[in-house]
Amino acid sequence: MSSRISPLQVYKFLPGLNCKKCGTTCMGFAVKLISRQAKIEDCPPLVNDPKYSDKLTKLRDLLAPLTSATETLVQIDSDKCIGCGNCIVACPENIILDPPSARGCNSKSPNALWTVEDGKIKVLHLEKCRRYPPSRMNCNVCEIVCYSGAIKVVA
Ligand code: SF4
Ligand code: SF4
Ligand code: SF4
Repeated sequence: MSSRISPLQVYKFLPGLNCKKCGTTCMGFAVKLISRQAKIEDCPPLVNDPKYSDKLTKLRDLLAPLTSATETLVQIDSDKCIGCGNCIVACPENIILDPPSARGCNSKSPNALWTVEDGKIKVLHLEKCRRYPPSRMNCNVCEIVCYSGAIKVVA
């Protein structure tokens, strides 16, 4: 099951003024917060007006995983990994970095994004994930193909 935070969830905790002091509408700001192109402090009414303090607290709680997760927002729980290799052969970036992976082989290249070692996923270069800046693509193929739930894309 996806653990992603939706713009609507974020929007509920914004002032809803559409004043554009953040440079966009409240919904636009919600999208930017999730993609980390804006920070909560960019909404002056929310941080300065005490009447929004409850919303501010709830928004900070909601977005906490975005600041604590890895930069790619891909989290891996190796305890849940069963070493199936689905992520290796399905990750569009990994099969470029390690072409034999596209034929169903385990990653061998030291430049690969990840490999399976001793029956568990081993991360080599997660910074090459397409979610990483500057591309910040909205990919979550690895999460979809990981049937054991070891991979979660936070946002
Ligand atoms: S500054 Fe805050 S209240 Fe104003 S439009 Fe942006 S998110 Fe909405
Ligand atoms: S999010 Fe996409 S590019 Fe990043 S590791 Fe997963 S499948 Fe690969
Ligand atoms: S798809 Fe999931 S279970 Fe399979 S190797 Fe990758 S992380 Fe492990």
